[in-house]
Amino acid sequence: MREVAVLGATGSIGASALDVIARHPERLRASVLAAGRNVEALLGLCRVHRPRHAVIADASLFAALRDGLRDAGLATHAHSGDEALEALVAGDACDTVVAAIVGAAGLPSTLAAARAGKRLLLANKESLVLAGELLMRAAHAAGATIVPIDSEHNAIFQCLPTAQEKPGAHWSPDAHAGLQRIVLTASGGPFRGRRRDELAQVTPEQAVAHPKWSMGPKISVDSATLMNKGLEVIEAHHLFGVPGTRIEVLVHPQSLVHSLVEFVDGSTLAQLGLPDMRTALAVGFGWPERIASGVAGLDLVAQGGRLDFEPPDLEAFPCLRLAFEALAAAGTAPAVLNAANEVAVSAFLQRRIGFLAIPALVEATLAALPAIPATSLQVLLEADAQARRHAEAAIEDFS
Ligand code: NAD
Ligand code: MG
Repeated sequence: MREVAVLGATGSIGASALDVIARHPERLRASVLAAGRNVEALLGLCRVHRPRHAVIADASLFAALRDGLRDAGLATHAHSGDEALEALVAGDACDTVVAAIVGAAGLPSTLAAARAGKRLLLANKESLVLAGELLMRAAHAAGATIVPIDSEHNAIFQCLPTAQEKPGAHWSPDAHAGLQRIVLTASGGPFRGRRRDELAQVTPEQAVAHPKWSMGPKISVDSATLMNKGLEVIEAHHLFGVPGTRIEVLVHPQSLVHSLVEFVDGSTLAQLGLPDMRTALAVGFGWPERIASGVAGLDLVAQGGRLDFEPPDLEAFPCLRLAFEALAAAGTAPAVLNAANEVAVSAFLQRRIGFLAIPALVEATLAALPAIPATSLQVLLEADAQARRHAEAAIEDFS
């Protein structure tokens, strides 16, 4: 029986994870549920899944959670705050952690799971972008198994034998003999095919209306700017120990081929499936076994009978270029990229800046804060904080 902590339980990945867990009562149990601020949604999940522990990040909401659990007659223990979450993740309340908090806010709990040697179903890509080397080293040292819960990286995990045979060891640059390159597929987002000048007036509603995936607002905007693919390039670098020069991005509007791995002998392996994150989550829970996810098999004819591919348009979507550049600059650059992007996306969703200001704000922040070596977690967190301050202060210039 796997005792699972679902962090970000009230979000899109959280819902998919709980759906898969509920299909396997004999092997999976939701023992810890954690959310940011939405107490009502968390209480609703507690009524259904009856976890041993529930955590609300915002400490001012602790009483509401505690009283709600009591009123519902549940034995679930209430907790609040980051420290309580880290302690639960590291302790024996769970052996498996679904890290699905959005943004850099997910780093402390993700790191705690890695350090405690848990099976880590890692959706929170921002923690890898911010502190990938540190996180992968911690996981390796503690014997934690990381299964990526991003459709592309989960596809690569499935196609790359050494990513499976050496769980926790795939951070090593020479871990994958014979690997030539990784090709990450991208749907292209809702604005695929548009020119740069056609993007100036797009609204948050248009940006979050993703054609293929139903996801939280932040990652949906990232998909529209292609920053999501940029973050994923950095994510792939850390998960599989592959340099940025061997990672390519290909736009594939059907979102059925989730990524490809090319070997030196000319073989290319790909993983295909319907765009539904429950497949990746079932891989993470069941690995090395295969378990049902609730996702139907792929009928390529019914899906339109064709698979299209095209190169990304870096002129209209400069965020992808900025991410490749930050990866090449290394050190604190990816942390700065990620923090500035979080500030910019939040400002865009609040209608304080336009869509094209997102890459502009990220580029200006990267230019203002040149990369320094990432010698410690402290250095990375300081770079993150500095980038947030800088981007926040620069918003006026772009609004
Ligand atoms: P979402 O916005 O739907 O959910 C975010 C969750 O995080 C919510 O439960 C929220 O309460 C919680 N949260 C936010 N701030 C928090 C904090 N400070 N402390 C504790 N909890 C907090 O987001 P999502 O779409 O589910 O994405 C979650 C993560 O998974 C992101 O990093 C995203 O990039 C990644 N991801 C998502 C998908 C997808 O299909 N949705 C695919 C690949 C990767
Ligand atoms: Mg993805």
